[in-house]
Amino acid sequence: MFQFPTNYQVSFDGRFDLSTAPTHPPKDAPDDKVLEERLQKLVGRMDELQQRFYAHDKHSLLLIFQAMDAAGKDGTIRAVTRGVNPAGCQVFSFKQPSVEELDHDFLWRTSKCLPERGRIGIFNRSYYEEVLVVRVHPEYLDGQNLPAEVNRDTLWQDRLESIRDHEKHLARNGTVILKFWLNISRDEQKKRFLKRLDKADKNWKFSPGDVKERQHWAAYMQAYEQALRETSRQHAPWYAIPADNKDFMRVTVAEIIVKTLESLQMDYPQPNEVDRARFEECRQLLVNEGE
Ligand code: ATP
Ligand code: MG
Repeated sequence: MFQFPTNYQVSFDGRFDLSTAPTHPPKDAPDDKVLEERLQKLVGRMDELQQRFYAHDKHSLLLIFQAMDAAGKDGTIRAVTRGVNPAGCQVFSFKQPSVEELDHDFLWRTSKCLPERGRIGIFNRSYYEEVLVVRVHPEYLDGQNLPAEVNRDTLWQDRLESIRDHEKHLARNGTVILKFWLNISRDEQKKRFLKRLDKADKNWKFSPGDVKERQHWAAYMQAYEQALRETSRQHAPWYAIPADNKDFMRVTVAEIIVKTLESLQMDYPQPNEVDRARFEECRQLLVNEGE
């Protein structure tokens, strides 16, 4: 049987070579029907695991999604959260920062949205934008009110270090972090943009700005490569997921989430002697209740 590849995990040794990261599924990948069935199974499994995760109430799960436009972040998030109890899962999308957000350090706005214990938090874009889009458009820094002591020469390295420290801190305190880069090819992005222009029911998804942004493709790929190299760690791994086939991408992401949750060995909390005695009292009260 086809085994879902684990080699999409970005190595922790700082040697990630983005040009070798596939945008297509492997040749022997299952067909879309099999993938759809597999996704159904994984979604069911995620629902069970999420209940256990919630009851266990010790860890938080943070899922970060980054990608070029039209790679399918929204659809993937929708697919993997489909069966999960909405009370245990929250999605946050980070767009251009507001004036209030720009008046704080770059980790502030996402920190407010971190998942509490027992919950799953999903970031659709994240603080990584600060070393991606801002790196590609350094003029955005002008709006950030940075003081003179922020060294412009080492800014990107310093931000990557802040991100590493931040994630290390979160992991050390019980947040399980998984980061997904949905790796779409430039050709596939073009096809999807053209579809958005050609099909009336897809027009709403089209934004002229996205076509302009694609002209910076090489700069984005460089920024992604460095960000993934420098921040993929055992406690906060990046996965470079081929994104040209949406079904394969969604199943691969779901497989990784399920495997990670399964590895946590979560138990439902067990009542102790005192709890059990109290339960017995409550049981008697209920049984003896007048009609
Ligand atoms: P969709 O297009 O599917 O609605 P999206 O995530 O592309 O989703 P948009 O509103 O199109 O949402 O784009 C958000 C934009 O905000 C992106 O171009 C992103 O790079 C930008 N952005 C996010 N964070 C920052 C940041 N910290 N500084 C500057 N720009 C940012
Ligand atoms: Mg967009």
